[in-house]
Amino acid sequence: MKRIPCSGCSLLCDDIIIKSDGIFIDEVVGACLKGKERFDQVTAKNRILSPMIRKNGKLVKSSWDDAISKTVEIISQSSNPLLYGFSTSSCEAQFKGIKLAKLINGFIDSNSTICQGKVLNTSKQTGITLTTITEVINKADLLILWGANAAASIPRLLNKVLFSRGKFRMTGREIKTLIVLDPMKTASFGVMGVRDIALNIEPEKDIELIQALKEECCTEKSIPESGIAGIDANDLKRLLLHLTGTEYGVIFIGQGLLKPQSGSNVIQELLELVQMINEKQQKGRISVILVGGHYNMIGFEHVALSSYGKNSSLQFVNNQLAETTDTIVLKVDNEDFDSSLIVGTDPISHLPIQLSKKLAAKPLILIDNKKSATSQIADVILPSAITGIECAGLAYRLDHVPIELQKIINPPSSVKTDEEILDLLLEKLKNS
Ligand code: SF4
Repeated sequence: MKRIPCSGCSLLCDDIIIKSDGIFIDEVVGACLKGKERFDQVTAKNRILSPMIRKNGKLVKSSWDDAISKTVEIISQSSNPLLYGFSTSSCEAQFKGIKLAKLINGFIDSNSTICQGKVLNTSKQTGITLTTITEVINKADLLILWGANAAASIPRLLNKVLFSRGKFRMTGREIKTLIVLDPMKTASFGVMGVRDIALNIEPEKDIELIQALKEECCTEKSIPESGIAGIDANDLKRLLLHLTGTEYGVIFIGQGLLKPQSGSNVIQELLELVQMINEKQQKGRISVILVGGHYNMIGFEHVALSSYGKNSSLQFVNNQLAETTDTIVLKVDNEDFDSSLIVGTDPISHLPIQLSKKLAAKPLILIDNKKSATSQIADVILPSAITGIECAGLAYRLDHVPIELQKIINPPSSVKTDEEILDLLLEKLKNS
């Protein structure tokens, strides 16, 4: 029996017990269903186990030598390559990805740019008060899920932070208030107790609520009797009371807040509200945690920032980092690329259809371990090992805490780790 971290989501639970002889995993104890799926991926039907090259419109199995040669050929003929994904790769592989982008004068971005990276980019103007899961377990008396369905996306998050007894608290769940703000009645509403507050806000009206709360915090005007954004005045007063009276509050910011509303940046307004409350607070404070899905989404931000001084959207020209305001979305939308290398993600499913079509129209190389819409249209597929099971590496938890992932079993002999694949490409392209 061995204790290991799970790479099923960005919580990176480090209390999973596994029984393994180093060849097979016989038992997994403590993982949620999503975590178990991650372990099941080793033998899943949709696992990619051989390199593939598209020939006459069809993907056919190939040798590693041929697949790498084809990849090198595509990249060598490309003057404006795009590299994207990396949020399910280790930090070591992310570093190699950026090195490759530099060598081939490419543009590199991670999934974080269209997800929680938006909050970090906004925080460059507003500042941000972050906290860690351990601090929340030990100290929190107020937990707010805002646009975040934690019960589905980070299944064990509430177990850890809501139902635990903190080091500095005589009591546990009894003193913790959970507030869920969401237009949908998500699974997270199912864990609410009598003292908690369920707020079904009208779709895309978070901005109205935040702006009103900012007014309240500054001027203490009364809340309108008609309520705001579909939430009645009494619930709003309770919300305001908790926000301004908490000893240790945390707002989990989810995907639901990432889109602009009424032409305004909701995140900026929310971070400003948090700052305002914290300035007014005499003895407590509110922090935020970003609820991203992929297990190492935040890792890319740290690797890029520490190695090149920029956390996302890196453009290289003449093997140097160049100024750009482009993001992956702008690059694809403007068709400002002539090939792409996708690592561990499925943009053909995730991006809006008009962007997917543009991405699919140019040569695409995929490094991944499972079949997807992107693998269906790829020109070359390089099958990868599953990090945290078949290879080790560093990853950053959703609260920016680094966690060492472990290797439990050997990967199938026909696949390579992300890092090995990127190393091979770096070596071949340097010599081409
Ligand atoms: S919550 Fe996430 S990290 Fe924890 S066991 Fe489930 S999938 Fe794995």
